[in-house]
Amino acid sequence: MRIGVLALQGAVTEHIVSIEKTGALGLPIKRIEELDGVEGLIIPGGESTTIGKLMRKYGFIEAIREFAGQGKPIFGTCAGMIVLAKRIAGDEAGHLELMDITVARNAFGRQRESFECDLEVKGIAEPVRAVFIRAPLIDEVGPDVEVLTLYKDEIVTARQGNLLACSFHPELTDDYRLHQYFADMVKDSIAANL
Ligand code: GLN
Repeated sequence: MRIGVLALQGAVTEHIVSIEKTGALGLPIKRIEELDGVEGLIIPGGESTTIGKLMRKYGFIEAIREFAGQGKPIFGTCAGMIVLAKRIAGDEAGHLELMDITVARNAFGRQRESFECDLEVKGIAEPVRAVFIRAPLIDEVGPDVEVLTLYKDEIVTARQGNLLACSFHPELTDDYRLHQYFADMVKDSIAANL
């Protein structure tokens, strides 16, 4: 099983290391043609405005929408979650506009710029270690979106069919269970398309 990590900007190598712990092959994706060689895609954290700009420049908006349209799973973490969202709070336009969520950027304020904690994730037995860095929150979810994690009553992980999004950085810990959760989504989508 091959899982791509969008390699335009952000925490690419760490995601590849984490995905390979699940037994899948992790491949950096720099050109749209490379999407043909993977069954799932991770969009990493970084800076969502920069990632969105580079995605437009290299044709990734259409290519990733098509990828999602084929039922292939996508996992957006932190800035990657912002890029996946249909709506961004404030005046900012969305990027891929695939997932029926509204996100608020940099939602934790200055004094909480970065922090770590353990969080319950629906579908994973024990709490998962979560690293938040200038993290976004999910303000609203559409009817088809399942909330998987709350942090102090705020939504920080959610799933809509083959789309998974989280506010934090699962690739910066040696807890690989969220990557395993995503790898299982990819495995299920391959089985469903056989
Ligand atoms: N604050 C960043 C943004 O709005 C996201 C931060 C991150 O990915 N760690 O794009």
